[in-house]
Amino acid sequence: MGKIEVSDREYPRPTILIVDDTRDNQELLVSLLKQDYRVKVAGNGPRALDIAQCSPYPDLILLDVNMSEMDGYEVCRRLQENPLTRDIPVIFVTAASSQESETLGLQLGAMDYITKPISPNIALLRVRNQLLLRKSLNKLHLTSIVFENTLECIMITDAQGDIIDVNPAFSRITGYTREEVLGKNPRFLKSGHHDQPFYAEMWHEINTTGYWSGELWNRTKTGECYPELRSISAVTDTQGIVTHYIGISSDISQIKHHEEQLERIAHYDALTGIPNRLLLADRMRQAIAQAKRDRKMLGVCYLDLDGFKPINDTFGHQAGDSVLVEVARRISNILREGDTIARLGGDEFVVLLPDLNHVEECIATLKRLHESISLPVSIQDHSNSLTASIGVSIFPGDDNDPDVLLRHADQAMYIAKQSGKNRYHLFDPTHDRQSRIYQEAMLRIQQGLDKQEFELYYQPKVDLSTREVVSVEALIRWNHPERGLLLPGEFLTDIRNSELEIRLGEWVIDTALGQLMQWCKEGLILDISVNIDACHLQYEGFVEYLKHRFNAHPGLPSGRLHIEILETAALEDFTTVTATIEACRVMGTRFALDDFGTGYSSLTYLHRLPIDTLKIDQSFVRDMLVDKGDNAIVQGVIALAKAFGLKTVAEGIETMEHFEALLAMGCESGQGYGIARPMPVSDLIRWARNSDVYFLPVL
Ligand code: C2E
Ligand code: MG
Ligand code: MG
Repeated sequence: MGKIEVSDREYPRPTILIVDDTRDNQELLVSLLKQDYRVKVAGNGPRALDIAQCSPYPDLILLDVNMSEMDGYEVCRRLQENPLTRDIPVIFVTAASSQESETLGLQLGAMDYITKPISPNIALLRVRNQLLLRKSLNKLHLTSIVFENTLECIMITDAQGDIIDVNPAFSRITGYTREEVLGKNPRFLKSGHHDQPFYAEMWHEINTTGYWSGELWNRTKTGECYPELRSISAVTDTQGIVTHYIGISSDISQIKHHEEQLERIAHYDALTGIPNRLLLADRMRQAIAQAKRDRKMLGVCYLDLDGFKPINDTFGHQAGDSVLVEVARRISNILREGDTIARLGGDEFVVLLPDLNHVEECIATLKRLHESISLPVSIQDHSNSLTASIGVSIFPGDDNDPDVLLRHADQAMYIAKQSGKNRYHLFDPTHDRQSRIYQEAMLRIQQGLDKQEFELYYQPKVDLSTREVVSVEALIRWNHPERGLLLPGEFLTDIRNSELEIRLGEWVIDTALGQLMQWCKEGLILDISVNIDACHLQYEGFVEYLKHRFNAHPGLPSGRLHIEILETAALEDFTTVTATIEACRVMGTRFALDDFGTGYSSLTYLHRLPIDTLKIDQSFVRDMLVDKGDNAIVQGVIALAKAFGLKTVAEGIETMEHFEALLAMGCESGQGYGIARPMPVSDLIRWARNSDVYFLPVL
């Protein structure tokens, strides 16, 4: 047999203490072991006991039995007595190899014998074996400490799945002692949370991959269910046959609990405990999907308390908070299972009513909500009453996403508030669509004004007898970048009766005055008529504005600006309108009633308003040559004007026949395509110069 190699050389090298009182033996053993081990030598027993207690502690002691001062048995006994040295394995080295002495040695704790004369190979093998044994024992010791002390619950079963060991953590978590579970199949821990396929899949994975991990709900001895994170490993022998299963798990109840808490904080209102905006959005998405699936309606009710702020201000926030909690409770009590109540913040709540067949069902719930909320609430011994304004949007009538539905309900709630509170208002999608279109049109006109896309065209009015151009009518045009040149009929209706109509009217006045000023500087004396809507005329700042604009154009001769009043039917307050017209007349402005004959109560205006001119509407002029009725109207208007001392202007003169007929009837002036179309200011002068018949006054 060759030299024995110490395999798996360890680091640090194991330390061996050689105890022998014979120098030859010492030297022999030292030379044998020093290559692979760290070697210490003691020449007698007491010395050996000292060295054994000093670091580096020996991993093995080779102990001579026959020593003069203290024999090996005594040394062994003392080593055993000392806790520090008790576990160090001892191999006796002895010449006296009798059964009796071996028994004594083994009784004293010796692990093995080497007999003298020493055979090097046997000695090395025995040393190596002892050290390997010690190493395994150490490892086992360490493992058992881990097993005993870990917080994770460990369960070991045999190949049949019957428990063969559990650690203290298992008992702590499940409440079962080790003895109670040994030999049992772990299925007694089942909680009922998982179905058969779950376990089947788990075992399938263990059997195919040797490993499974996942969340498992188990039941403790006292019957409580708890979640654990478990891993199960199959242990196999060298043939690959399963010998054991090891389950390691940690109780994750705390983590779950925290998760739930976080979930609550994230999705529920802290004060009332009902869902918050985030959870509401989620529920709305689900409810919309469900309504689509079931072909039912979903009511989204936006509820805002009336008079909550005074409660907060009078009784303090704490009282306010308790009122909110009470309101949340009352609403919850009324709702069906499947309905949702959420708090958006402040005193705003949202109620979702899914599964509706008719709007009436929603309305019935709204009535109950109102009744319940308006029951008295007692705050600091005062009985208070609350009400709520509720706005409702209903899917799929209002076929929109959650955000828009909520916004619509909010808008409807606002209307409920404005119409007197303590009521509900249903959002009307059609009306909303129209008002959105209207809003967009308004916005576009506003932008057009800002970007100077509007322009005044001018249409000459001529004296029918002298054929002189007496004035021009300013007609607004919109140079729309996408839609091209737009006539007033294409955009003015969008801003009727709005603030923007006033702004646009002011722009017209301002532009016309600017133009007059320009002509004045050029020596051209020509009046401009502007069209002003009745509404604008009745605006209280009208006179002020006109005064202000006249002042901004000093040097402009008075009487150059005329105003044609449109939509005369909208003139409501005669006294005020009369006062306005009078005030403007003081500044030199003259007035005409436009489109005369088309509105109601025209004769009343004629009689009472301080105007100068009547404009005969083009609809009568157009057919006057063929239609006797129209002809009679035109004649009648001219006669009426004369009777009231007013001038007449005929619109819509398209032919020479019109022109001559009107002249013959006594109409003073007129305008129309037959004379000239409305045109940009730059074309006006050119037109007048090139025209044979009509000419501009003094240049
Ligand atoms: P209006 O004040 O009665 O103006 C006369 C309208 O008749 C003008 O239409 C003009 O182009 C058209 N017209 C003139 N001669 C003839 C003709 O011989 N035959 C025909 N078929 N039509 C003729 P326009 O420019 O489209 O204006 C329409 C209406 O829009 C105006 O009627 C007026 O009520 C309103 N409007 C025009 N400019 C303004 C403005 O600056 N402000 C306001 N508030 N309304 C305006
Ligand atoms: Mg006009
Ligand atoms: Mg007209």
